[in-house]
Amino acid sequence: MSRVYNFSAGPAVLPEEVLKEVADEMMDYNGTGMSVMEMSHRSAAFQEIIDTAEKDLRELMNIPDNYKVLFLQGGASQQFAMIPMNLMKNKVADYIVTGQWAKKAYQEAQKYGKANKIASSEDKTFSYIPDCSDLPISPDADYVYICENNTIYGTKFKELPNTKGKTLVADVSSCFLSEPVDVSKYGIIYGGVQKNIGPAGMVIAIIREDLITEDVLPGTPTMLTYKTHADAGSLYNTPNAYCIYVCGKVFKWLKKMGGLEEMKKRNEEKAKILYDFLDSSKLFHGTVVPKDRSLMNVPFVTGDKEMDAKFVAEAAKAGLVNLKGHRTVGGMRASIYNAMPKAGVEALVAFMKKFEEENA
Ligand SMILES: *Cc1c(COP(=O)(O)O)cnc(C)c1O
Repeated sequence: MSRVYNFSAGPAVLPEEVLKEVADEMMDYNGTGMSVMEMSHRSAAFQEIIDTAEKDLRELMNIPDNYKVLFLQGGASQQFAMIPMNLMKNKVADYIVTGQWAKKAYQEAQKYGKANKIASSEDKTFSYIPDCSDLPISPDADYVYICENNTIYGTKFKELPNTKGKTLVADVSSCFLSEPVDVSKYGIIYGGVQKNIGPAGMVIAIIREDLITEDVLPGTPTMLTYKTHADAGSLYNTPNAYCIYVCGKVFKWLKKMGGLEEMKKRNEEKAKILYDFLDSSKLFHGTVVPKDRSLMNVPFVTGDKEMDAKFVAEAAKAGLVNLKGHRTVGGMRASIYNAMPKAGVEALVAFMKKFEEENA
């Protein structure tokens, strides 16, 4: 067996320890004589898996009691519609557009009401986070929407926007569990788990209880109503049971590692190794305004497309894979999520140094 350093933006690297555990339990989970894949979602064994996963997540994020944790399907993209369908009572919402995912959410919301773009960083290819301290928040806005970490462009909100009392909704797909957060500042925090937590196919939505009502837009399907899933403990229909199980293992791993304070420390340390090199390199440079740099997704370029392609190809041969930038941006991107060990980032920087010398 040989493992590579996988810098994919998602689906992405998972902790080796977790992969080994789920492999060990593949044929016989905890004396049940079957894999979790083969198990009824109504069984006592699975109920314990989902309850434990929720309990551990609540502990990790210090989630207040007046928030529900929902394990949903449809990917992060389905939330782009579910959020307006469930929250747009006045049919008005304000969007801060800091990248492609925020833009998609903004465009989707236009189907359901008046979505206002109250700030954007598109003028400079989303390479920064706009000043959000005094935005023209709509008086009747049902919520203010952000994408907190921009996976494609590598920016992160270091400070939450001033929503002037309006409910904040945040897509945290690519920074989920990367550092501590104050859940009480949000109405909804949600993210696809395939970036920083588990296998693809599930979203975790953490929602303040007063936002979960029957008063949704007319025509909202049962399956797209938060209340359906909240009332059923995420077991209204068959959930992505195997994904919940693997995510639960990752929560245990995070707790064992020391929780989110410790992850933040590690993530800062890892990102610093790469950013420090980018700041000193003559060949490679980062594409993001330094103060807005993400700890999770690090885009960089040489400024020469052929050189970029050569780098990506040679890196892959050296076991450093999935470094190609997003198809809309080009260049390179290293995603260095929780499960990427420091040794992986060190190996990448060592390789970049060598490449720079050879191509000077
Ligand atoms: C990947 C990603 C999405 C889309 O996720 P899907 O699960 O594929 O729908 C949305 N938002 C952000 C920030 C992402 O990184």
